[in-house]
Amino acid sequence: MEEWTAKLRSSVEACPLLGPPSISMLEVLVGYLGVVALLGVVLPGPSIAGAALEDKSRLTYKCNGLASLVVLIAGLGVGIRTGHILPTVVAENGGQLCSTTLAFCLVMSVFVYLKGYLSQSKTASLRSHVTGNILHDWWFGVQLNPDFLGLDLKFFWIRTGMLGWFLINLSVAAKQFQNQGSLSLSMALYQAFSAIYVLDYFWHEEAMTSTWDIIAEKFGFMLIFGDVVFIPFTFSIQGWWLLSHSVKISKIAAALNLCIFLFGFAIFRGANKQKHKFKQDSKVVIWGQTAKVIGGRLLASGYWGVARHCNYLGDILVAFSFSLPCGMSSPVPYFYPAYLFTLLIWRERRDEARCCEKYREVWQEYCKAVPWRIFPGIY
Ligand code: NDP
Repeated sequence: MEEWTAKLRSSVEACPLLGPPSISMLEVLVGYLGVVALLGVVLPGPSIAGAALEDKSRLTYKCNGLASLVVLIAGLGVGIRTGHILPTVVAENGGQLCSTTLAFCLVMSVFVYLKGYLSQSKTASLRSHVTGNILHDWWFGVQLNPDFLGLDLKFFWIRTGMLGWFLINLSVAAKQFQNQGSLSLSMALYQAFSAIYVLDYFWHEEAMTSTWDIIAEKFGFMLIFGDVVFIPFTFSIQGWWLLSHSVKISKIAAALNLCIFLFGFAIFRGANKQKHKFKQDSKVVIWGQTAKVIGGRLLASGYWGVARHCNYLGDILVAFSFSLPCGMSSPVPYFYPAYLFTLLIWRERRDEARCCEKYREVWQEYCKAVPWRIFPGIY
């Protein structure tokens, strides 16, 4: 028993994502949030009208995430060169930063809950959806799109999490470079794939305005925690893992890994792009033909004619490709694909229920035309 406890204690101590909150990491976090908010306000970017809400109003989103990322990286580069910023600070304090961010999210979620609870607004974005079950309301949120000092909190928060994931990865890469003078092939693959994914996300940031999180999910602890703790700290597990485990993969394995990434990425991006274009113009040309539309409202060609959520299939393949560079010796680096698989199966069910209610017989017709949910021929 003692031996087992000692083993558990040593593995907990060795886990880079466990540690007590600290004031220094709170300063890092608040500074980071302030800079991302400031860049979001001052940098130029296209203003995109979001999906029509229940009361037919539309929110406007300033999509300057890519500009924010570029300026942020340039600023960090200057800070590192002038010796004001240590590139490995996050990699060396991952546990403290993670728990500090979690504590921050707990406080923020109470603030957001109270703000929503007290809201007198009647608009669809700010109306209070109090159910009376405090735990439920705190967890799922009570307002669809709360704002703070003119900032759309939900849009800002997702951006903060995705940028945070990118920065954690860069710090982890800097740490491996510091430790061994170069990046391992595994680390280089993971870094390259995840960097492409994040850059692509910001390149297509306007497509975020029509996603489930933005149009349907209220802003509560689930999203607050999910966006800035769960996304940056658990999506980066592969990088943390490769810091302390040496994995040698052959060039053939690396090439196969690259193929899985590219295949998944093409489906993921292609499907999301097709739907986004369709929402803007229902006569859009997809795969060389005018889009097949069901009931004048639902796209049934391209990826959306193969499965009802092909975008999820692509995302799951991409997630898997992030972990393959870590080899098969441990399930730990496979946390992200396992989580995403579970989440997207669950989300597809929730989205299906929502679409069923919204589109009624049109949705039934779509389901008949496209019987597969996510995996064509399987599910
Ligand atoms: P979708 O982008 O698939 O959006 C679902 C909505 O699209 C539906 O509610 C419906 O909304 C509309 N829709 C569905 N089918 C059709 C159709 N055939 N024609 C026209 N409109 C349709 O889902 P998500 O927002 O969940 O996901 C967006 C992306 O984000 C995905 O690629 C997903 O993989 C990724 N993602 C990643 C996560 C991660 O942790 N890495 C987590 C969650 C998502 P409407 O009422 O507007 O018609």
